[in-house]
Amino acid sequence: MKRKQFFWHIYPSYVIITFAALAGITLYSASTFRSFHLNQTEMDLKARALLVKDEIVSYLQNGNYNPIDSFCVAKGKKSKTRITIILPDGLVVGDSERDPETMDNHANRPEIITALGGHKGVSMRFSATLQRNLMYVALPLVIDNKISAVLRTSLPIESITKALHATFYGVVLAGALIVVIIGLISVVISRRFSKPVEELKQGAERFASGELKQKLAVPSTDELGKLAEAMNTMARQLDDRISTITRQHSEQQAILSCMVEGVIAVTNDEYVISLNEAASAMLSVDRDSATGRLIQESIRNSDMQRFIKETLLLDKMQTIEEEIVLTSAKLNVLFIQLHGTVLHDRQGNTIGALMVLNDVTRMKRLENIRRDFVANVSHELRTPLTSIHGFVETLLEGNVDDEDRKRFLQIIATHVDRLNSIIQDLLILSKIETDAEKEGLELEKSQLVPVIKEAIMVCQKKADDKNIAINLECDNGTYAVINPFLIEQAIINLIDNAVKYSDDGKQVTIKAFSTGNEVQIAVHDQGQGVEKKHLDRLFERFYRVDKARSRKLGGTGLGLAIVKHIVLAHNGNVSVQSKIGSGSVFSVHLPKTTDNPGR
Ligand code: ADP
Repeated sequence: MKRKQFFWHIYPSYVIITFAALAGITLYSASTFRSFHLNQTEMDLKARALLVKDEIVSYLQNGNYNPIDSFCVAKGKKSKTRITIILPDGLVVGDSERDPETMDNHANRPEIITALGGHKGVSMRFSATLQRNLMYVALPLVIDNKISAVLRTSLPIESITKALHATFYGVVLAGALIVVIIGLISVVISRRFSKPVEELKQGAERFASGELKQKLAVPSTDELGKLAEAMNTMARQLDDRISTITRQHSEQQAILSCMVEGVIAVTNDEYVISLNEAASAMLSVDRDSATGRLIQESIRNSDMQRFIKETLLLDKMQTIEEEIVLTSAKLNVLFIQLHGTVLHDRQGNTIGALMVLNDVTRMKRLENIRRDFVANVSHELRTPLTSIHGFVETLLEGNVDDEDRKRFLQIIATHVDRLNSIIQDLLILSKIETDAEKEGLELEKSQLVPVIKEAIMVCQKKADDKNIAINLECDNGTYAVINPFLIEQAIINLIDNAVKYSDDGKQVTIKAFSTGNEVQIAVHDQGQGVEKKHLDRLFERFYRVDKARSRKLGGTGLGLAIVKHIVLAHNGNVSVQSKIGSGSVFSVHLPKTTDNPGR
């Protein structure tokens, strides 16, 4: 519906009221004016009749009717009044305007009838004789108690009508003028009313659009002023409430988004109320598009959907727990521990369910690693122990000649060395982990050349036995922030492998240099190389490409795991490049600055 402007509410009512008042006054004054004028005319006509009455009576007493007409003409001319004398039978004997001979019988004229009844007759009508509207006043002329004739005076009454018309036109003109003036006044008044109302409207629109800070100007009118004040108070309260709600909401969001645990809240009818970043990452769903949608549409995991349904059926204060497996966006398998409980409002009514998701994948993996590790260690220890056990039993039986006894004892010694090596390596690994976890490594800025040379010296004998030359390419100015003892140990392991897995007469080269943000130590060999499929797993504990060969060479399968742990404790990483038949490059990457290493 189209709404009218303020002006159109004011203007028509003003015009109607003014017109009604004007019309009322006009009608009342016109009728008063008319009756006053007619009264005056009637009294005037009566007075004029009385002035000539006596003379007419005297003519009638004489029985001489002839001079009456000329008397009427003379007096009528002077007084500008029509004077007519009518006998009781209606015969006109004198008239100031016409010849009585030519006039009709007047006995049926209403004023004459009244006068002949002995009363003053008054009538207003159109005169057939004069063709004008006249007022007639007729008086009976009584001689000897008998009505001898009727004296009638009359005047035209058009002047009254004219005066009334003039008044009417004046009123219409004044009315039109008033309409225009009222229009102008209405414009001014409506502006005066509508301007503050318009400002209030604009203010209310600003409030509706959320701009609650800018206050409304308070108009001087009492009602509008109170309205503006009330709206300002309302806006302030609204602003306060919105600020509080927004603050609470952002605090809640901040808490939820900082949580490592995933949190999902759903309504009783299974619509997602809220879902934090951690949950969205675990479930691989977009947070914004999932919120407000049915869980079946947003969370595609059937175990999760079932768990939510089960949680919604719980009683107050009850909780359930379950472990499910999810596949992340990067297709990694995630183990998620779920806790579910019902959500209630302040009145204690159930309004939905709350699920907390804990990613226990790392824990599971560690558990698996630990389990594998125990199995591996047991296995590694069992092989030499079984062997030792067998030879010891044979020796105890006593049927062994000196040569065999010596050979058996030699084998037992080798296995004992092997056990010793494994235990040594395990202890080193454990020490690195414990040091790094507890108080961090003791680091110092060290020149690399002496550290590498020390490592080369340790491996020199084995290299010489195989006629392998060890070269070093390192600038004296190459420094790194390291624990020299551990880095030396790592380099020893790498050189040892390079020598172990290279044929006689080959070369081993150690290159150490600085690049960008890191210091690299790379051990190049010309050995047998490693197949690509093994490269990712080489640094795992007890991982060996060829177990038998490694054992034969005195390997424990822990050398590269120790390298990796030493480097990780320096906040660095390890890499390997290898090609079957051409050799391998094992590299250690150390950060140039190490903040809080080992943690
Ligand atoms: P191991 O005691 O068996 O040498 P490591 O952890 O040091 O254990 O090495 C793991 C495996 O990686 C070895 O068994 C071997 O198969 C392979 N490997 C390590 N270094 C080299 C190398 N330089 N060339 C070829 N293979 C190597």
